[in-house]
Amino acid sequence: MMNKIFFRNALLNWFSEHQRPLPWRQGDHPYQPYHVWIAEIMGQQTQMERVAIYFRNWIARFPDIPTLAAASEQEVLKAWEGLGYYSRVRNIRKAAAILVREHRAILPQNEAALLALPGIGPYTAAAVLSIAFNQPVPLLDANVERLLSRVEDIDQPVKLTATRKLILRHCQELLPADDARNFNQALMEFGALVCTPKNPDCPACPVQEYCQAFALDMVDMLPLPAKRQGKIDIFMACGILQQGDRFYIQQRMEDDVWGGLWEFPGGRLKERETPEHAAVREILEETEWQVIDLRPFATVMHYYTRYRVTLHAFQCVLAEDERVDAPVLHAASRFRWVSLEELESFAFPAGHRQLIVKMKDRV
Ligand code: SF4
Repeated sequence: MMNKIFFRNALLNWFSEHQRPLPWRQGDHPYQPYHVWIAEIMGQQTQMERVAIYFRNWIARFPDIPTLAAASEQEVLKAWEGLGYYSRVRNIRKAAAILVREHRAILPQNEAALLALPGIGPYTAAAVLSIAFNQPVPLLDANVERLLSRVEDIDQPVKLTATRKLILRHCQELLPADDARNFNQALMEFGALVCTPKNPDCPACPVQEYCQAFALDMVDMLPLPAKRQGKIDIFMACGILQQGDRFYIQQRMEDDVWGGLWEFPGGRLKERETPEHAAVREILEETEWQVIDLRPFATVMHYYTRYRVTLHAFQCVLAEDERVDAPVLHAASRFRWVSLEELESFAFPAGHRQLIVKMKDRV
């Protein structure tokens, strides 16, 4: 039987000694709601070390909610470039505008008002309420799921709704009413640094005597995974269209995947289509330009939550009778001809950014 007070105190002590010096935890005014919000959104699908770097740059560029609300979409996309999942940053900007308009530029302290903001779901609302405002709200992420499924020997797949509810109940029972900020972070940080997916540091674990998985020698078997789903392959092709020392780029439509980001023209391969043919066809469909002299440039791969994207890029030029300055845009809102150096100032999806790095390497 777990001694809840001991378990709680052991984790809080561990956290006070071992917590990482993350920027939103430091300074004269740690855990500012705006900082916690941005850090939590950045932390979705991103390692904490990277989040810390992006967070510092972000706060230097957008120190408060009014500055963020006044920024253009291009500015926020550029600051986010490389973090991926760009709908997150578009929602941040929309939410900032609402906060300025309706909440005097401060984050509200109740769940319903937080959930009404774009991009804030139950997890982020709970994170803001508990970490920024120290409200006694439990918080469940993959680290907490793993830690508690081991401690409580939970033998059901952790991603099942019923299992998550069970773990959330354990969190609620353990949560100290007056120190949710530290306890929630302690659970997550302990799962991330000690009770890790592989090779958890059980010999040094301060809650080892209350861990049922350890007692039963079942640490390696928990948590039980959900049924595995393979990645879905997507094959794409694009053209790096050059005219003198300028490259053609276009901005994706607002309501599109990666809306607002810039790209080299291209798209998905059709069944049995070669990448080269797809590049020519896509450019024709998107700009009404005929391109010629295609030469393979690079093939890059990029992973998204459920997808593995293989992107084939070709260098090419316009057919002689095409007018350089007049594409008819069918899949983009704007276009530019830019130098290699100027490509730096536009925000691109990760696959296209990989191509730009290769272009620079080859100069
Ligand atoms: Fe995790 Fe090992 Fe500690 Fe159990 S004993 S909580 S498995 S680190």
